[in-house]
Amino acid sequence: MWNLEAIRREFPILGRTVAGRRLVYLDNAATSQKPRVVLEAIRNHFERSNANVHRGVHRLSEESTEAYEGARRVIARFLGAQGPDELVFVRNATEAVNLVAHAYGDRHLGPGDEVLVSEMEHHSNLVPWHLLARRTGARVRAVPISDEGILDLGALREALGEGRVRLVALTAVSNVLGTRNPIPEVARWAHEAGALLLVDGAQAVPHLPIRFQESGADFLAFSGHKALGPMGIGGLLVRRDLHDRMDPFLGGGEMIREVTLEGATFADPPHRFEAGTPDVAGAVGLRAAVEFLETLGIEAVADHAMRLGTYARRRLQEEVPGIRLLGPVPGPAATGSVVTFDLPGVHPHDIAQGLDRRGIAVRAGHHCCQPLHRRLGLVATTRASFHVFNGEDDVDALVEALVEVRREMTAPAAGAPGTARDAEPADALFREVVMDHYLHPAGREPLEQATVEWEGRNPLCGDHVHLRMRLEDGRIAGLQVDGEGCSISVASGSMMAEHLRGRTLEEARRLLSAVRAMFRGEPLPGDLDLGDVKVLEKVRDLPVRVKCALLAWTTAEEGLDHAGAEVPRTAGEVSDGHA
Ligand code: PLP
Repeated sequence: MWNLEAIRREFPILGRTVAGRRLVYLDNAATSQKPRVVLEAIRNHFERSNANVHRGVHRLSEESTEAYEGARRVIARFLGAQGPDELVFVRNATEAVNLVAHAYGDRHLGPGDEVLVSEMEHHSNLVPWHLLARRTGARVRAVPISDEGILDLGALREALGEGRVRLVALTAVSNVLGTRNPIPEVARWAHEAGALLLVDGAQAVPHLPIRFQESGADFLAFSGHKALGPMGIGGLLVRRDLHDRMDPFLGGGEMIREVTLEGATFADPPHRFEAGTPDVAGAVGLRAAVEFLETLGIEAVADHAMRLGTYARRRLQEEVPGIRLLGPVPGPAATGSVVTFDLPGVHPHDIAQGLDRRGIAVRAGHHCCQPLHRRLGLVATTRASFHVFNGEDDVDALVEALVEVRREMTAPAAGAPGTARDAEPADALFREVVMDHYLHPAGREPLEQATVEWEGRNPLCGDHVHLRMRLEDGRIAGLQVDGEGCSISVASGSMMAEHLRGRTLEEARRLLSAVRAMFRGEPLPGDLDLGDVKVLEKVRDLPVRVKCALLAWTTAEEGLDHAGAEVPRTAGEVSDGHA
């Protein structure tokens, strides 16, 4: 029997409010919340047993070593490894994949060899292979997926059949689509083709029963923080008989047997792959998380995600007009732990922020899956992701809020809950001004005879500004701002159009640098009136969106810098350094 109320009581963070409402946390695929037992295990470790491991000949060091190695035993058993020696502690799934790329890849791959990935991979299971390819001359090749988000197994077998694949690197569960890939079959086919299989288990370990040995996988990478454990600890399972086919990854203390000035011999695995002082408290916390999941029953955890995902998809589809749900329906092909969608006409940033104002945390962006988004013809999406403490009431809150946000972003109804009237005055003014510019942007009229044309992009969320200016006698005589983006980026472009038109180049540059200074929180020249642009200062409360607000201004600055160059010029990008 799934006792949601009892489970919720174990998560202290659920006791807080956000925006005056109960916290509805639906961002578990990014990181999960932590139950009390995890927090207590970490605290208890530091209060009672903290010491460095393995080397000390004193009580605390022995206790700490036992806590660390005991955690390894419990977690390795939970994941169905042959023994604790198959579990290497790392910081996270990313480090685990990098470890394999270096320790195995550098030694065994060379020109002409292939690493086979899929179109649904997280950047953590792509970039390490790109870097390996650069180092070794091997090639990264991707198996396509269907429009529904299912791996093309025929294409995978064909690629394996060509005989150049040395390693298949595949996610068990997609962090965007929730798709489950058939790991045992892929392991068999990979082995028949003489390749190894690395499984990215970052989204599988938190929700599904994993039997590493039975699955046939050779490596399994995961992060503790998505499975109710702390950040900073994760694992790499390595099949025991591969240990001697791998070189050390990082060098230093803990991973050696003997060191001379000329060289070193190395400790037995798994310690050979764990250089330096480990995150003992992290391992202890992850053990507590695993034991918590075991108490609930990992099959019951999987069923819970499936039920919730199914319920969420049904309600969203029925009640949110125009919504496009991504990925397969929960069942054998998908976990249900993530529900990702596109809502045409409403930017994911605006959705996430509108939901945040109602106490609901979701994720907006490309979720570190840019190739997948490109494949789906999208730049950014919105993702709700569940864990054991989520219930149907969380989904109900999401659906209700999403309907409101959609209404607000397409035609704001005065006085509707969550719109400007119930906010504090500065926030209300900000939203009123932004929505007014967003729905009726200035500067959209076609411009004749542009002398400067420039593009700006924010690759993180797909915001895109196309700017055309006509410079005459040292003035901006005409200006047109087009493009696509969230409400803040569009509104900011609209304000800029109103403010720049007719200015001398000197005035324009002064204004542009004042806006940049405003976003950095620096004082503005006393004689400069920014007018309604001043409300954008509020964006500083939401640092991630400063880039949205700056995009048009940066594009104009770059456009002026390149005035006189050929038309059109290539795109500039907003980078972290701009704010
Ligand atoms: N792989 C998948 C499928 C993920 O969802 C994530 C994180 O979102 C990662 C890898 C990387 O995890 P971490 O950032 O903890 O290394």
